Amino acid sequence: MGELLIKNGFVFDPLQGIKGDRMDIGVRDGKIVETSALSSPKTIDAAGMTVMAGGVDIHSHVVGPKVNVGRLFRPEDKLFKSPHKSPTCNRMEMGFSVPSTFKTGYDYARMGYVFVNEAAMPPLHSPHVHEEIRDTPIIDNAAMPVFGNNWFTLEYLKNHEIENNAAYTAWLLRATRGFAIKVVNPGGTEAWGWGLNCEHIHDPVPYFDITPAQIVKGLIEANEYLGLPHSMHVHANNLGNPGNYTTTLDTFKLSEGIKPNSKFGRDQVMHHTHVQFHSYGGDSWANVESKAKEIMDYVNSHDNITIDMGQVTLDETTTMTADGPFEHHLTELNHLKWANADVELETGSGVVPYIYSPSIKVCAIQWCIGLELALLAKDPMRVFMTTDHPNAGPFIRYPRIMKWLMSREAREQQFDAFKHKDKVIEATNLAGIDRELDLYEIAQMTRAGPAKALGLAHMYGGLAPGLDADVAVFDFNPNEPYAPDDIEKAFGNARHLFKTGVQVISDHEVVSNGNKRTLWVNARVNENPQVMRDVKEKFLRYYTVTLNNYEVTGHHYLPNPYVIEVDATE
Ligand SMILES: [Zn+2]
Repeated sequence: MGELLIKNGFVFDPLQGIKGDRMDIGVRDGKIVETSALSSPKTIDAAGMTVMAGGVDIHSHVVGPKVNVGRLFRPEDKLFKSPHKSPTCNRMEMGFSVPSTFKTGYDYARMGYVFVNEAAMPPLHSPHVHEEIRDTPIIDNAAMPVFGNNWFTLEYLKNHEIENNAAYTAWLLRATRGFAIKVVNPGGTEAWGWGLNCEHIHDPVPYFDITPAQIVKGLIEANEYLGLPHSMHVHANNLGNPGNYTTTLDTFKLSEGIKPNSKFGRDQVMHHTHVQFHSYGGDSWANVESKAKEIMDYVNSHDNITIDMGQVTLDETTTMTADGPFEHHLTELNHLKWANADVELETGSGVVPYIYSPSIKVCAIQWCIGLELALLAKDPMRVFMTTDHPNAGPFIRYPRIMKWLMSREAREQQFDAFKHKDKVIEATNLAGIDRELDLYEIAQMTRAGPAKALGLAHMYGGLAPGLDADVAVFDFNPNEPYAPDDIEKAFGNARHLFKTGVQVISDHEVVSNGNKRTLWVNARVNENPQVMRDVKEKFLRYYTVTLNNYEVTGHHYLPNPYVIEVDATE
């Protein structure tokens, strides 16, 4: 693949503590190397520009059946354009909140991102998830199968069968080519099958006689028993309801006293996602208020937790989640169309359009809460930028979120555009927060931090020798005066992007589809005949497919797999 020298850029690399120093970055055979190791590299002039590692998205819904439902049932979301005439990037790009696979890959690359973690994979539909991953160019992907309403998981946990639960978890990760343990409204989506929900962590799940608290704790234990790269990744109960911050704090507390067991460098045992949707005070939409401060007081003082924002971007978007009961609740609130599915023994989902209008007080309060979470973070290595794409807004708004985080002036402009500005200020803390993040902190929240939390810091998130050569160059000089909008413009349109040493963006144009990989975790456990008997029995009795048609195998689904081996045998 040859050698590269990216010269004279202002480098931001939290992994090495580099804060905007003018430096050269060396690349050889797809890896970062010392510049002294290069013999005759191709030179890229990055003088006057910002250089960072490739971006890492810890939570985004980009592929799979519910994304496809969103694409199908929202023709009004389609913006057809074919802006690029290069031989590589010649596909029609369409969709705003639910973009096509090609647009997804290209748009992430244009923001300098190289890795995206698909946030919810229904195990039964994992072949579909992997086919869409395969068709998403440039970016590496992983996908998290959902476990929090899975009948096997619920039964093993109810019976305190820790080892069997771990063995089943390892089996399902392998069968689905999955990456980590995801939990969505634990117990609640299963309860929805009975017309019920679990809004609090001690609500019983019908039939299974287990609670969300037991599910979350049991899966953290399984995660640490196996020693997986990432921690258990939770979307807690009671999402999106006034007063839900107490449920969030109760969920956080389930991680107390548990230490990480992972060789992959993470410090947390729980990643709690889209915390904006889980930080509401009040007891109705009339008096809903921010509890971001209470949430961040907890996060700041407990280092075995990481979170991501779920920032509202004030756009029209398409919500989609395995939290089936929540989507039913949402369609009753906004009276827009609704799709809903039950996934046999495993999970469910719903899809509902949503308009986050600056004229609606609640939407403006949500916007404040997401930014407060990031701006109140003492350790930006544990609080990550997301929009829970597309739930709180499309991922293409990340550069705009950077602008809001880096510029108080930009935030004030947005406040002035709110119809109910005074009431919004009263219900939130944001107007009183002066903090402006710098590019080092942004690199922590978008690169080094999420890479570490995912257990992938040996590949992504930094520019130290030995890491994958994922290097983004932006037309942004941090040492010269800039307007807030310059941030959004520069970081939404990378000048250059190298992925594992291959130049995929050159002078703002996509020039290669790269060497896209699918990461998955192969956790080896001792042979467990009991679990395999249980699996066979449930497939015979309940599933609509046979076991042979369930497992994701072969080149068709994962043409370029990257397997992370974990040894949990004794
Ligand atoms: Zn999500």
